[in-house]
Parts: sequence; C-alpha cells; structure tokens
Amino acid sequence: MNWVVRIGMDVVGFLILFLTFPPTLLPAKAAGVLPKNLGFSSANSTFRIAVFADLHYGENAWTDWGPRQDQNSDLVISSVLNMENPDFVVYLGDLVTANNLPMPNASKYWEQAISSTRNKNIPWATLFGNHDDTAFEWPEDWFGSLGVPSIQCSSSQSATGSEQMADCYFRRSTRAELIQLDVQHNLSHSSYGPRSLWPSISNYVLEVTSYKHPELPAAFLYFLDSGGGSYPEVISASQARWFQQTSAQTNPGARIPEIVFWHIPSQAYSEIAPSSGSPINQPCVGSINLEEVAPQEAEWGIMDILTNRTSVKAVIVGHNHGLDWCCPYKSLWLCFARHTGYGGYGSWPRGARILELVEEPFALNSWIRMEDGTTHSKITLASEV
Ligand SMILES: [Zn+2]
Repeated sequence: MNWVVRIGMDVVGFLILFLTFPPTLLPAKAAGVLPKNLGFSSANSTFRIAVFADLHYGENAWTDWGPRQDQNSDLVISSVLNMENPDFVVYLGDLVTANNLPMPNASKYWEQAISSTRNKNIPWATLFGNHDDTAFEWPEDWFGSLGVPSIQCSSSQSATGSEQMADCYFRRSTRAELIQLDVQHNLSHSSYGPRSLWPSISNYVLEVTSYKHPELPAAFLYFLDSGGGSYPEVISASQARWFQQTSAQTNPGARIPEIVFWHIPSQAYSEIAPSSGSPINQPCVGSINLEEVAPQEAEWGIMDILTNRTSVKAVIVGHNHGLDWCCPYKSLWLCFARHTGYGGYGSWPRGARILELVEEPFALNSWIRMEDGTTHSKITLASEV
C-alpha cells in the first residue's frame, strides 16, 4: 500500500527550543521553518533508514594517509546510498576525529561527512559522539626535530591578523558550533536540544507520520547525546527525565513505536554482550564480536525508563567499531550499528546498519549493508504479527 511519511520536529520540543535559545544562537530552522514533509520514493510501504556510524573524518589531516581514509569513507557512504536508496540517514556520532584537528575547522570535515547524503537530496539527522568535540591532542613528534607541519587554516585570505590568529590557533570546534552548521541545511533534521540539558546537545525527537492517517504519527525517532569529548560519557538523569516527559506527552499510552539512537553503549550492553571473541548465537544476531563493550561511565536511569515503555522497540549505538550485533534486553533490542568510516581504529570491513519501518502491519526490520554490496545479519526487531 502507498503511504507517505513525514518527519518533523515535535511541536512541544520546538516550542521549548524556541523559548529557551537566545535569538543569536537560533538556527534558521528554529527561527520558524519546520522541516519539510517527506514522502516515500515508491509504493512499497516501507521507510528505510541508513545509519552511518563512526566516520571519523579529519584524521591525521596533515599526512597523505588521512585524506585518503576520508575519500574511502566517501565511497562507503556513496555505495550504501546507491544500493539501499534510503529515505533518511542517521549520522550516529563521531563524524569527525576532533582530537586530530588542530584548528576550529571540524566543520569542514563535518560538511564532508554529510555531503554525499546532501548531494543525493536525502534528508538526515545527526547526533554527537565522543570524538566530535574533543580537544586537539598534540602529536609528540611535532616537538622533536620534525617540528610542527605547516597547517592549512580554514580562515579566508581576507581575514585580519587577529582573526587568523583566532582561527588558526589550536582550539576545538564546540558541539554548539557544529550543530549550528548542520541545521542550516534544508535537508537536515538535526536539532539543538533543550538548553536545560546542556552540555549535551543532540536531544530531540522526530515524528514519522502515517500515510493512511496523515494526522497521526506512525513512529517516533529519538536522538540522545551520550556525551564524551568535552564532558563525561553519560546520559544524564536530566536527559532521562526529558525522554520520559517528552514521550509521555507526544505518545500518551505508548501506542506508537519508538526507536532510540545514541552513540556510546549504555552499561546494559555489557550485561547482555556475548563474551568477546565468541560466536554470536541466537537470539543475538550479528557478524563481528571482536572487542569488549566500552560502555558509558554511569547509568542514570535511561534504561529503566526505556524498558518500562512498551513502545520502545530498539536502541541503536555506535562507538565500538568491532561489534555489530543486536541482542534482546528485557522488552527491547540493543543493537550496535556497523563501523562505516575508514577513520577510527579497526580495519574490519566497512558497512552500515539499515533499519526498515513498515507501517501496516507494523514491523521494524534491520540488516547490515557492506561496502562490497553484500548484506547480512537480517533481523526483525519488532512486528505486530
Ligand atoms: Zn568511533
């Protein structure tokens, strides 16, 4: 059956943002332009999401190796987009390796990360990982006989001396700077979160609207900032409360399915993980299990809230490049994405987790699409039948 899906920032969240952000920080979107409605590209009644995790653009930018890795990541993204033709893309954090970026130009690499999706006119949303706003880490050998390599600053030629100084001297791009850049794109559905949740930024919800009943939602996609970089790796008690209150308001009775995305696995992932290096047996599904889960530093209540809410079907995280499994945890599924970028540790073949929503009867399917075109680890995470 035909159905159209609309994704839009939830109205309550939008009002909170509008009322709490000072006008100078308001992105164009929050200044009153809600994201456009999205329609299906075909009548197959599915809504397909490609999840790009841990791209790590900008690594060792002063060498030949770094930019080559970034070109390879471009190719992974393009080939997944060509093969899956998704309706939506989620960038699951660590778009850039900011600790390798010796100037506030992480934005340049952020732009590169989203460019293939933008060029194909596919809408997207981003959230932050632990590497997106880390401080620059000085390579020790820059202080030996090699010295500091000459580094291309991002400032324009016309910049004055003091502007160049500010731009070229070594400091990171902040989460706020990066998200400001992202939301300026028409296709971006990313959002600042409520200011009350600072320093975490990427906390927001998107609505996927029913085609058959356009006034009703068919699913909600939640994005949470799991920290790291400039502050601890954690989902705070305030964020957990925000999720609880927002989901109760937007989806009373928990009747509409919800999918939750963040970057760093919660401690619950460690509880259910198949032991590192062992085969991934049923009911878990996946293809690589080659490292220990590297979880958040603390658990402040988000997992209790999620598992007490029957509408939450799955949590999708990145961060561990050597894991790509889904395992059941109480009432929902905990899934890793798949390391997509050539940046970041690990040389396991690159790919992307795909999520496919079916409206009626409701189903949430997932699989992993590899750079070489193969697919594996197909699983149904939720279904009505
Ligand atoms: Zn990473």
